[in-house]
Amino acid sequence: MLNVALFGPPGAGKGTQSEFLIKKYNLFYISTGDLLRKEIKEKSRLGLAAQGIIAAGGLVSDEIIVQIIEKTITENPDASGFLFDGFPRTYIQAYILEGLMIKLNTSLNCLISLEVEEEVSVTRLLNRGKTSGRSDDNEVVIRNRLAEYQDKTMPVLQFYKDKGIYFGLNGNQAIDIVSLDIQKIINTELAKNLFNVVLFGYPGSGRGSQGIALAKKFGLEYVATGQMLEREIKNKSELGKRINELYENGELVPDEIVVQLIEKKIENSNGVKGFIFKGFPRTLVQSYILDGLLKKHGSQISKIVEIEVPTLELISRLDARSKTNRCMPYDRDTSKIVKRLQEHENKTVPVIEKYNQLHGVIKIDGMGDFDLVFERISEELEKS
Ligand code: AMP
Repeated sequence: MLNVALFGPPGAGKGTQSEFLIKKYNLFYISTGDLLRKEIKEKSRLGLAAQGIIAAGGLVSDEIIVQIIEKTITENPDASGFLFDGFPRTYIQAYILEGLMIKLNTSLNCLISLEVEEEVSVTRLLNRGKTSGRSDDNEVVIRNRLAEYQDKTMPVLQFYKDKGIYFGLNGNQAIDIVSLDIQKIINTELAKNLFNVVLFGYPGSGRGSQGIALAKKFGLEYVATGQMLEREIKNKSELGKRINELYENGELVPDEIVVQLIEKKIENSNGVKGFIFKGFPRTLVQSYILDGLLKKHGSQISKIVEIEVPTLELISRLDARSKTNRCMPYDRDTSKIVKRLQEHENKTVPVIEKYNQLHGVIKIDGMGDFDLVFERISEELEKS
């Protein structure tokens, strides 16, 4: 779940930026101002209580705010995240938001503050007043709203600075630039929450088919270096020809090539929940590369899984595959199959051992049919 609060004085551009944010990140929009105006229009009890205060540019009581916001949140339990506009506006409301997030078993990821000078706010709101039809978009009330902001709302920032999730940005810039700045903040926050799985296993253990199915089930991006390299071979690129030669000799592809391909994949995968890596890292060097790549994007490995299958079963599976149209260039004959198994033994097993000491590797029994093994892995991932 991604939960964001947009902060800033009236006229900072919160509403404008919200329009693009809700689409881009599929967020449920909660503007306390809009909710209050709706209550007023419906002449509800809450609306009638809030009407005079809003017209004068004051802040509506926290009791009223908690009621309207709780109602909206509980009416939308399936939301994939919330975007708060105009809330929290008081220190008490910051605590209220904490409580609401706990109730939903989630938390606020970031509070983004659009910082604009007072005169910019006034000019923008007076302009908006020409068409908004809002009675509070006139100069006297605007000044009052800004005074309330300074007095009661600005102190809220400290709450989020203390929590380490406050991000201020220059709201005087053009709309597009502010949008880009906001995206950068949110993407970095999202990266921290990525769920990254590394899937190990000998060739023939079922990593590929399991990886694809797991990626689908958990909404992860499947990163299979073998598949990426295949694509290069198929495209008959220079790189592809080189890779093919290495494959023919049963050798590993140099790290420089693999790193480039993975980095491109990570960078181009905006808004994913996480990655599932198959066939990478294959060597100790590559394990450092993966740690570094994820760290560079503010992320890390979440779970490491190894599918265990006895050697004789592996050989028989790979041999069977070599006789079908799923035959890979590297399992065309027994000597190549054996070479790959040896490569795994010599280069990848030490990586698994390293990870086992560092993070712990979940060992999965790879015997049995596909669904059974899939269930075993899913069960372990669901625990996260
Ligand atoms: P807005 O549309 O966010 O500019 O809000 C318009 C008016 O609604 C504000 O000037 C306040 O009177 C009231 N209001 C909106 N949100 C809140 C809030 N979180 N706490 C108190 N009053 C609010």
